[in-house]
Amino acid sequence: MKYQNAAFEFAAGRVDQLPASALPEIVFSGKSNVGKSTLINKLLNRKALARVSSTPGKTGTINFYSLPECRLVDLPGYGYAKVSESEKMRWAKLVEGYLGAGRRIACVFQLLDMRHPPTQDDLHMIQFLLDQELPFALVATKSDKLNQTQRAAQLNLFAEYFQEIPDIPFIPFSAQNGEGVEALRRLIDDACAKS
Ligand code: GDP
Repeated sequence: MKYQNAAFEFAAGRVDQLPASALPEIVFSGKSNVGKSTLINKLLNRKALARVSSTPGKTGTINFYSLPECRLVDLPGYGYAKVSESEKMRWAKLVEGYLGAGRRIACVFQLLDMRHPPTQDDLHMIQFLLDQELPFALVATKSDKLNQTQRAAQLNLFAEYFQEIPDIPFIPFSAQNGEGVEALRRLIDDACAKS
């Protein structure tokens, strides 16, 4: 995949604004502040193509980035406490509308903060992906922030949470030291080839 050729393509705030689906789509999902923009920028070797949020929860659109062989799709971050109920409803409609529209979704990368247990919103999102039978992988972000003892404890915790879905890839990731970047790129290549 030629990541250096990525370009911002489109932002959709409503289901009827979603661009037609032709290329396989690689989707990034996670709560706000989990490190989603940082991960996308790291993957693309860019400083700031995806916006690194100064105000968490403010990006309410689905953002599309085009690559020659696929699209990267950045879902709005969820779980920011200060967002109004109506904004949360709009988010759910948009995200469910996108994920449920029968598009060519090659893989959803569901991001989790490696330092914490998954939130209720994270677990709902994962259940939704399972219910929709969408291909997905779990990415545990900010792995550089844990020491070896904390890392082992968190890996055990996540293994317990997800013991009933054993075939889902689980990738510790750090934008700081590059852990997981190559693993993620391999998964993207495989997912696009299969879709
Ligand atoms: P988003 O809201 O999910 O897009 O999160 P951002 O990408 O804006 O990241 C939120 C904060 O976490 C920022 O201050 C980032 O610098 C920091 N961050 C993101 N990824 C990492 C990482 O891998 N390691 C460390 N140490 N900090 C990170």
